[in-house]
Amino acid sequence: MLVAYGPEGQPIVAEETPLEQLLTWSHEQQLHCPNCRGVVHVRGGPSKRMQLHFAHQRGECAWSTEGESVRHMRGKLVLAQWLRAQFPQATVLLEERLPGPNRIADILLRHSDGHQQAVEFQCAPLELDEWQMRHAAYRAAEIIDTWIIGSNRLEKQEAFIEAILSFTREIVFLDPLLTPARTWLRWPATRETVRTWQSGVQQPPALTGWVGRLGFGATFVGDLERLHLTSHGTFSHPQRAALAESQQLLRQMEHVSIPDLAIFEAYLATQADTTTIRMVLLPLLRAYLRDPDLLRRYNYGRGQWNQPVSPADQQRIERARAWLHELALQGFSSERLRACIPLIPLAGPYAALANYLEMLLALA
Ligand SMILES: [Zn+2]
Repeated sequence: MLVAYGPEGQPIVAEETPLEQLLTWSHEQQLHCPNCRGVVHVRGGPSKRMQLHFAHQRGECAWSTEGESVRHMRGKLVLAQWLRAQFPQATVLLEERLPGPNRIADILLRHSDGHQQAVEFQCAPLELDEWQMRHAAYRAAEIIDTWIIGSNRLEKQEAFIEAILSFTREIVFLDPLLTPARTWLRWPATRETVRTWQSGVQQPPALTGWVGRLGFGATFVGDLERLHLTSHGTFSHPQRAALAESQQLLRQMEHVSIPDLAIFEAYLATQADTTTIRMVLLPLLRAYLRDPDLLRRYNYGRGQWNQPVSPADQQRIERARAWLHELALQGFSSERLRACIPLIPLAGPYAALANYLEMLLALA
């Protein structure tokens, strides 16, 4: 366990107390188990290459969390820090005892308005009915429970993980032993959603990992810091939010007959930097909208079989060349412009713009 009661009955968190102080109290038998009130001692620490924690002398506690893994202890500390950074006004309690028989929340978050959230870090296997019972008990006590799973269970196909997924439509795995701690945010995606991503998302989630019978498993891997817990007990993640936004825009773009500059710009904002959007992609779409057939009519200077290049078109092409030249001077070499092609979504009438840019580059 990570929390014991000190000489005055105050909760002592192992990692947050000077080691010497802990050793003195431990030697004087002044540290007590918060659950059975029996004497506990300090174990581990940096010199022992083991997570600093408290343990009973002979494991005589009915509540014992002894034998809990280093991964689990480390995870609780890492998650408590993560929650404190996000909710500076709230109280974050480790190993908090709950009303009801033999239950301890790994972490309890008490907001200033009184509402409570629990975060459980599950590294060991768990029976489905055990999870259902604990989840129901939290909800009955009006505590919003969020379950984070040890990365040691990433590839395990377990009923309780599927149950969490069907309830929340997402799951987070955590490896607290890495610095910084790493997370896997996974959620089920439909075939239709996956297809939309494939039509124009620059950094789509990995499509691996088990989500039971719910669909494709989409996963973002990254630092714990990037992930936030909402007051509803769900997760928010900037990359996933951007993905959802571009996905929604892609759907809109698929179902129009004429490209729309505002939607195109909003979509690009989720995919590319502002300079590229303002200097290259928006002017490109404007030029295309003014005369979508210009490059086809010009046909690399050959014109159409029944229609030679007109002087007016010749002039337009000269202006396009001048524009490319100007862009090159501002750092947009033809290579860099070519790298813009995949930024154009393969959705609805926008898809033609990729070909338009390619033909334009052939002029340079
Ligand atoms: Zn005890």
